[in-house]
Amino acid sequence: MDRRAIVVGAGLAGTAAAAALAARGWRISLIDAEPGPGQGASGNRAGVLRPLPSVDDNRLARLTRAAFRQAVDHLHALARSGAPVRWQQTGVLHLARDARHEATQQRVVAEQRPAPGEFCFVDREPASRLTGWPVSSGGWWFPGGGWVDPASLCRANLARHASAIATHFSRPVDTIAFDAGLWRACDAAGQPIGEAPVLVLANAAAARRFAVASHLPLREARGQVTHLPAAPGSPPPIVVCRLGYVTPPVDDLRCAGATFAIGDRDSGLREADQRENLARLELMLPGFRSDVDPDRLGGRVGFRPLSPDRLPMIGQIADAREATAGRPARTLDQLPRVPGLYVVDGFGARGIVWSALAGELLACQITGERLPLADELVAAVDPGRFVLR
Ligand SMILES: Cc1cc2nc3c(=O)[nH]c(=O)nc-3n(C[C@H](O)[C@H](O)[C@H](O)COP(=O)(O)OP(=O)(O)OC[C@H]3O[C@@H](n4cnc5c(N)ncnc54)[C@H](O)[C@@H]3O)c2cc1C
Repeated sequence: MDRRAIVVGAGLAGTAAAAALAARGWRISLIDAEPGPGQGASGNRAGVLRPLPSVDDNRLARLTRAAFRQAVDHLHALARSGAPVRWQQTGVLHLARDARHEATQQRVVAEQRPAPGEFCFVDREPASRLTGWPVSSGGWWFPGGGWVDPASLCRANLARHASAIATHFSRPVDTIAFDAGLWRACDAAGQPIGEAPVLVLANAAAARRFAVASHLPLREARGQVTHLPAAPGSPPPIVVCRLGYVTPPVDDLRCAGATFAIGDRDSGLREADQRENLARLELMLPGFRSDVDPDRLGGRVGFRPLSPDRLPMIGQIADAREATAGRPARTLDQLPRVPGLYVVDGFGARGIVWSALAGELLACQITGERLPLADELVAAVDPGRFVLR
């Protein structure tokens, strides 16, 4: 068997997929338009790593729980292998929005009985002690959560398997084509950048530019993060969330965010968005930064790749034209698929949490191994679901 793959995109999705395949003895050509890994949505200073419980323990909650465990294991494994990631397991406090939400959070803990160390509910007083700042409600406490520098995770994914992953940076892929059992990715001059029997699209919303993937309903959500100067050791020493998030100091700056605007392509920092993030911060930590001038703050803008149902797309791409011609397929199993063409995408606001599990799942699908996720969740993230609809 020819165990070579092209991966287009070197963000969290592409580097996780490349690393998971490389770990199985595959040789990867990893291609990105940017001069290095983690420069798109995956280029923020720090983002939040934590599960996402829900009252009905829905698919998103179950997927995110499984992914969170995999992500933490992955971060530890990278450190053991000598490819450390910049991250801290500070714990994450998710403050309730109001009294009703507090009651819901308590109900979820009472009904779901999470394992010790997974999460619990803390009242306002202990929440204020954890935060080092007076807060106005209790919330869920995730002691195993924390913040992660996503670009450092991308770099570590590649460093761990450096001998198996050939990187091609500053090389935008213009076309992909399948001929005689091989995929070929070419630049705008028609020059081949990579050739392999398997091709993985991990290039966020730009995956749609290729005709075979143009049916995928990928969109973008602009997000702006605000950087706040912070003295080392100043509170809060943990990640705090409440309709947004704020991290502990990372290189003397805290990240507070983030805005969310679908279809907005403006890549410049906006003062109105800085104000929005400061308003979020005020909701989390009343009075914390009342002295700040939003004009003087830095930040970063990124574009999250989104799918309409907020679940990722992981798996082999359906042949949309074939599937809709004649008798339409009724189940995922009946869908015709494009040979050797896969996608790992649509991570939305959860790429840090989902990427390690997504990479493993994709690698198992490609190699025919037992899948690391329940069948129902594998189907929920199957990119073919959009063709059935
Ligand atoms: C403001 C903001 C806050 C966030 N906060 C969190 C958080 O707290 N927790 C969390 O889990 N997640 C968070 N996320 C989400 C997370 O960052 C994303 O889900 C993740 O980065 C998406 O990774 P990706 O690899 O799919 O996309 P990207 O990182 O954008 O990677 C796609 C890559 O494809 C390349 N590419 C595109 N087209 C081509 C082409 N034709 N040829 C070659 N290369 C190409 C691009 O250059 C890019 O490097 C946040 C995102 C944003 C924007």
